[in-house]
Amino acid sequence: MGQFQSNVLQSVIPMHPLHVLILEDNELDFELTQVGLEQNLPEFRCTLKWVTNQEDFIKALSAFAPDIVLSDYNLPQYSGLQALVDTQAHDPFLPFLFVTGELQEEKVAETIRNGAWEYVSKDRLFRLPVAIRNALKIKEARLEKKKAELALEAREKRFRSLIEQSPLAIIEWGMDGHIVEWNPAAERLYGYSRDQVVAKRFCEIFSPEKDGEDSIQIWEDLLVHKGPNKHIAKGLDAAGKPILCEWYNNPLLDEEGEVFGIVSMVEDITERKYAEENLHRKNEELTKINEELDKFVYSASHDLRAPVTSMLGLIEVAKMEEDPRQVFEYLDKQKKTLKKMDEFIHEIVNYSRNGRLSVLKEEIDLKHLVEEIYGQYHYLEKASFIEKSVEVNLLVPFFSDRQRISMVLNNLISNSLKYADLDKTPPFLRVEVNISKKEVVIEVIDNGEGIRPDLVSKIFDMFYRATQNSSGSGLGLYIVKEVVQKLGGEIEVSSDLGQGTRFKVRVPNG
Ligand code: ADP
Repeated sequence: MGQFQSNVLQSVIPMHPLHVLILEDNELDFELTQVGLEQNLPEFRCTLKWVTNQEDFIKALSAFAPDIVLSDYNLPQYSGLQALVDTQAHDPFLPFLFVTGELQEEKVAETIRNGAWEYVSKDRLFRLPVAIRNALKIKEARLEKKKAELALEAREKRFRSLIEQSPLAIIEWGMDGHIVEWNPAAERLYGYSRDQVVAKRFCEIFSPEKDGEDSIQIWEDLLVHKGPNKHIAKGLDAAGKPILCEWYNNPLLDEEGEVFGIVSMVEDITERKYAEENLHRKNEELTKINEELDKFVYSASHDLRAPVTSMLGLIEVAKMEEDPRQVFEYLDKQKKTLKKMDEFIHEIVNYSRNGRLSVLKEEIDLKHLVEEIYGQYHYLEKASFIEKSVEVNLLVPFFSDRQRISMVLNNLISNSLKYADLDKTPPFLRVEVNISKKEVVIEVIDNGEGIRPDLVSKIFDMFYRATQNSSGSGLGLYIVKEVVQKLGGEIEVSSDLGQGTRFKVRVPNG
């Protein structure tokens, strides 16, 4: 084949340029092909490159940049099939046509399977232009398709990166409730990897009963209304930590408008909810404090002014009195008034202390403390007539805030003494204490005048007095309740009018 030289021939048809690379070992066949092209492809200005061996063929693929390759099937040092492989490696979209007489029917099928675009028999070369036009159209279509595929791929990549970078957990469900997609934010939120959850039902992984029921309702909504919905659900993450999430669910609709799945965006609102609840609680506390402050200012001014007015009156009367015994009586009255004022100021100070000071824990000897308080109330007229006892059941030491426990006992004991009924035989006041590892239960029991049943529930209100006989401000039990709450405990009362009263205080030990 050495006598054949690679050759470039220009046709004169001034239309679309078409570079045709021809691999052919027979000069006559090449010329026939050339004539066939020039005569039958008037719309193209063809430039032909004729090569006979692999080296020239491969060089020409790059240097000549053909629009189409026409190749013989059998070549002495090269094969048509190898040329096809080389062409596809160079450019899979470059049309490759076999032009040969040797090709059998079954070989045609094989070559097409291998990627050849067309086959034209040398004895029917008049078909060549038609085959070339077809191949070029197919190339256009394939390029368009490829372009569309690449655009779709790029779009999908963009969407995927949106989903992967989303701070919201994104979960896709199939119609049967199985998880189809699970993005990295979902992994972070629930602590389960994509592989652990995909193809599983949600309730197989997360607290079955509750979420199971919830999801049935959600599915019904989405399938019937085919619109988005929103709900809040509690759940547990992989470590068993409870989380509260807001779910935004959207149905996925096919071209016929039928739902084929659901996509949910899930936001962790545990912290937000906690902050909201905290804010709400703080707001309620502030409202309460404000109301109490109003009441406090009103009542405090009244309770402080009343004794001052009565003192001024007593002084005026005493000034005009000549009988020293009478003057002494007025002084005694003034002393009582001042004592009452002092108690009131003392209560206000206690109230303010409870709000201000933090809880300090130390070991407390409750028996000793109660006896100390009994001693403090010796001055009360009634006190000496009352049988006072204290019984402490001490299993373990008691740790709490001494000042606050003392405030509570002081108030309860002084009330039992103040509201004692001296007609009882004998009037008594009993303090019973049971200390366990968990808590202390203190009961202050008396057989005094008791409280009217309809007023019992109000005695812990600020400035509430349940009897005309009260010489106090009505602040004591309010402070007791506040103090017990501050210590994390609770107080209850039971009373029978004319029979007696029992206060029960529970406070954590330690
Ligand atoms: P006060 O300054 O009136 O004693 P408290 O807040 O201490 O105010 O008590 C509220 C009301 O509860 C009292 O006015 C009294 O009617 C009633 N009370 C409290 N403790 C007893 C008790 N041990 N026996 C009978 N009544 C009591």
